[in-house]
Amino acid sequence: MNYTRKLPEREKNPETCCPSVKEGKIYKNPWPSATWRKSTYKGLLARRIYGYFTSSIFGREKNQQLKVDLDFEAINNYHNDDKNIAMQLIWLGHAAFLLQINSFTILFDPMLSKRASPLNFIGPYRCRNRGFQKFSQLPPIDFVILSHNHYDHLDKWTIQEIYAEEKNKKAKVLCPLDLKPMFLSLGIPENQIIECDWWDDIEVTRIPESIDVNDEKALQESLTSPSNRKIIISAVPSQHFSGRTGFDFNETLWAGWVVKSQEASYYFAGDTGYRSLPDDCPKEDIEKYPYCPVFKQIGNIYGPFDMASIPIGPFTPVNRMSRIHTNANDAVNLHTDCKSKHSILMHWGTLENLGVDEIERGPDELHKELIKKNIPLDEFHEVYIGQILKIEKKK
Ligand SMILES: [Zn+2]
Repeated sequence: MNYTRKLPEREKNPETCCPSVKEGKIYKNPWPSATWRKSTYKGLLARRIYGYFTSSIFGREKNQQLKVDLDFEAINNYHNDDKNIAMQLIWLGHAAFLLQINSFTILFDPMLSKRASPLNFIGPYRCRNRGFQKFSQLPPIDFVILSHNHYDHLDKWTIQEIYAEEKNKKAKVLCPLDLKPMFLSLGIPENQIIECDWWDDIEVTRIPESIDVNDEKALQESLTSPSNRKIIISAVPSQHFSGRTGFDFNETLWAGWVVKSQEASYYFAGDTGYRSLPDDCPKEDIEKYPYCPVFKQIGNIYGPFDMASIPIGPFTPVNRMSRIHTNANDAVNLHTDCKSKHSILMHWGTLENLGVDEIERGPDELHKELIKKNIPLDEFHEVYIGQILKIEKKK
């Protein structure tokens, strides 16, 4: 049984451990880096509507380059090789990741159905498949972790599919504040849903099924026993927004997540911006605009990280997208700020029609930026769907 408890709250301070901000029913990004900037684009709405209809219905053959290949044996045998591997991470396309750490299996932002949309015939769609037919092909899921409620991250069809699988019935959901009703409406029992504010630390201990959790002494002994596996999952800030219906703007929180065991650490940045820029910003002016300070805070509190999943794109129009998404410059800054040893690029190559950009543009842009900043190319990985990245245990 996975026993979860919230650890004592951290002291908040905008400079070192920035708290979430809610005014009335609305959450805010409390940094100058999220300020709206000037737009010079013309005709983008018409282009977007045209793109929505045409590429939703016709351009399905586009962007088929990204390889999809899951190694089921390596994923399902991870527990047997657990004495050698501290952590392994598998990208499932867009922002979906399968993390295996200290015997726990965690699924992040599983948008693993055909379409990221309230309607099943139009809207962003997966042009690359997920690499498996059924959840029975994967190990039992211990936790499903969500960054926010946008359709390309929180997909109710996938959530229902996960819980329809017998071995996943006890999986717990970790989500940002005010998202609990969404999961209750999907039939997940309340005691399996944990809502987190930024910087909440949730300790997870795998205790024997035989332990009576109401027996305080037996529970304490079990929680402190070195033979019971443990991880800590923490919600951390990101610069983004939320909403699914057009009437619920920013009424639920958004977050990134950190998972740590004694031997490995992982940071999932979720969906985030880094620095809000105006359209047509000259290159020499970029540094004059403030960047989001939380990634350094996350690095200072939880870093360095063995691995981090960092998003790229969509980019256009800059004045709207730079507030809430990252370009290559931002992605590399984020990698450095959070003190990641190995980053994996996400939020590209999978979902067609999410923005107006070419979805396979991310890795090329990233390479140029790494070279420009003198960062070794093997610090930031461009992986295919299903590729396994491992961190070996220190001998
Ligand atoms: Zn989003």
